[in-house]
Amino acid sequence: MVKTALEEAAHKLHEANSVVVTVHVQPDGDALGSLLAMARHLKNIEKTVCTTWGEEIRIPAHYKWMPGIDEIVDFKHCIDADVLLTLDCANEHRLGFMEKRLTRFSSIINIDHHIDNSKFGTINVLDFSASATCEIVYDLLRVMNADIGADISTLLYTGIVTDTGRFQYSNTTAKALRTAADLVDLGANPNAIFQNVYENLSFASLKLLGVILERSHYLEDSGLVYSYLSDNDFKQADAAMADTESFIDYLRIAREAKVAAIFKETSDGKLKVSLRSKGDIDVGAIAREGGGGGHRNAAGFTLALTIEDAVVWISERIKSQSTATAAS
Ligand code: AMP
Ligand code: MN
Ligand code: MN
Repeated sequence: MVKTALEEAAHKLHEANSVVVTVHVQPDGDALGSLLAMARHLKNIEKTVCTTWGEEIRIPAHYKWMPGIDEIVDFKHCIDADVLLTLDCANEHRLGFMEKRLTRFSSIINIDHHIDNSKFGTINVLDFSASATCEIVYDLLRVMNADIGADISTLLYTGIVTDTGRFQYSNTTAKALRTAADLVDLGANPNAIFQNVYENLSFASLKLLGVILERSHYLEDSGLVYSYLSDNDFKQADAAMADTESFIDYLRIAREAKVAAIFKETSDGKLKVSLRSKGDIDVGAIAREGGGGGHRNAAGFTLALTIEDAVVWISERIKSQSTATAAS
């Protein structure tokens, strides 16, 4: 019998005594959900687990409530193990400092749903139709005959609800909804998760949403709606970049918006760009050209440009994609 990648991964994990579980830097809900769900299951089956990611560990305020979040340790403590398990990580560079440690591991299981995944694992469990890595983790846990209780369900549901933009983006498939329904049956509480993730902003950060909306611009020729926050805006609101993760969804709601962009100035003067598209525009391709990555409709990258130049750079690429689509 030919083994599927899922079965191979399950087998390798069952065989292992120790596992380092890791995700992309600046983890989002899908990264944290898949990380903590896998860590919890592996601990339940008596594996030695190191749960980490490759930068200084800072937990976004709206994810601090997640079950097992206190068990995350600094990557410096996660040196050797039988298996390195990476989740929601499209390529080696997204591992941050963990990238340098890759050669220490003879087995690397790479579980991901990004279409541009570089297949850096020794076992690659890739499902590009999955709404979230958490959806694949659910399939893996079923293959592993895991005991999926309320905590694991809550973690996996969190990854799916955040990566689908609350079940509204184009990756909201019937399977995503079915998996979410299973997870509710198994103990996830959608309302509690919604409040913890989406109604957990400090009042000062709420004001930043006002700033973003007030400063938004619309470029008719490209269909780009964009806004920005300076490093000083973050400092004044005592907010972290992750606190403003969901703000881009408010720019998308303009009927005119083909693509929404938010520029966030980092403390070293660069621009972290978040892009979302509603239709045919492949913002993942634009982000890759800028040295980042992501999905067709949701992507990000960091640019060393002024906002004015970044806007021109992105608009040009939206327009050339629109022209190419119109011509085909
Ligand atoms: P964000 O706009 O930061 O919420 O990211 C949206 C999507 O793009 C997510 O799937 C991220 O994993 C991906 N992404 C963001 N930044 C990068 C980057 N620098 N390199 C590769 N993928 C990224
Ligand atoms: Mn992610
Ligand atoms: Mn994801």
